[in-house]
Amino acid sequence: MSCKVVLAQGISVSYREELKNTIKTRNIRPKLVGFLANEDPAAAKYAEWTAKTCAETGVEFELRKCSRNDLEDKIIEANQDAGVHGIMVYYPVFGDRQDQYLQNVVDVSKDVEGLHHKYVYNMYHNIRFLDEAKTKKCIIPCTPLGLVKVMEYVGVYNGILPHGNRLHGRIVTIINRSEIVGRPLAALLANDGAKVYSVDINGIQEFHRGVGLQLKKHEVSETTLTVEDVLPLSDVVITGVPSPSYKVPSHLIRDGAVCINFSTFKNFDGDEIKKKAAIYVPAVGKVTVAMLERNLVRLYDYQAQDRAFSTA
Ligand code: NAD
Repeated sequence: MSCKVVLAQGISVSYREELKNTIKTRNIRPKLVGFLANEDPAAAKYAEWTAKTCAETGVEFELRKCSRNDLEDKIIEANQDAGVHGIMVYYPVFGDRQDQYLQNVVDVSKDVEGLHHKYVYNMYHNIRFLDEAKTKKCIIPCTPLGLVKVMEYVGVYNGILPHGNRLHGRIVTIINRSEIVGRPLAALLANDGAKVYSVDINGIQEFHRGVGLQLKKHEVSETTLTVEDVLPLSDVVITGVPSPSYKVPSHLIRDGAVCINFSTFKNFDGDEIKKKAAIYVPAVGKVTVAMLERNLVRLYDYQAQDRAFSTA
């Protein structure tokens, strides 16, 4: 079998080394506060993992546990504390629209997860900078950003093409259209030039910038296509189905495709997919955490710029 299995650990190394060097050589100590207001063991695990990688790179990480009803006040406190540079919340907290509200309570200048409406809006509208002078890049949500970095690493992005068009000609299927990962990812990849088939339990949408990428930002159209139609066409298949029983039908995967799973469950049959795929990435979690820290250092610098500007 010629399939190359690429592990997230290997992909995240260069980002973690870069972060470590930046923090050490510039002698800075960015501080990230994580709020845990649920009893979800997966969230506790994620928090443990964040603490570990932050310790390795030199980021100060503090986990603050509180009840879900106290969370809003605790976030506001951290927003106002100049010693806190980044804030994240382990979701779900209420598991409904109140979580969306809490995402917008986190101050834009400290939102390492990129979940504030301003970042989400800018991402969907392909607005890449916060300022007109283009000195401050928008924060992109960590998991979709991590998946972009995975695709860059395995060579799906074509470096000969200009930034912003590097997926021109690529066809990508994403099986998941959640607001946290699947839909933002489809938009990001389509904004970068890909034709994306976004699959969820109700059907398939196509995200694209038109023939020759004539559109500035992606547009979305409904299709009557099925997984049987789109998988054989796809250069890249990305899965995030939160179910242990779901498996992508390997026989539909194009020979030589790139297959990436971000679900906590194995959505590809490991043995079968290796017979078809050129590249298989079974998990991406470590890259997500590296992106979280990368966003933190970026926000740390923006806050320093703002302070310098306000005292100038
Ligand atoms: P979600 O429940 O919000 O969304 C699941 C999506 O999958 C929905 O769009 C749903 O329609 C679609 N779906 C479910 N079954 C399907 C099927 N049989 N065919 C086609 N589409 C189907 O979940 P989520 O928050 O997007 O998380 C998904 C998975 O990704 C979970 O396992 C989660 O733990 C994992 N996750 C990983 C990371 C990471 O960094 N690795 C980050 C976030 C989430």
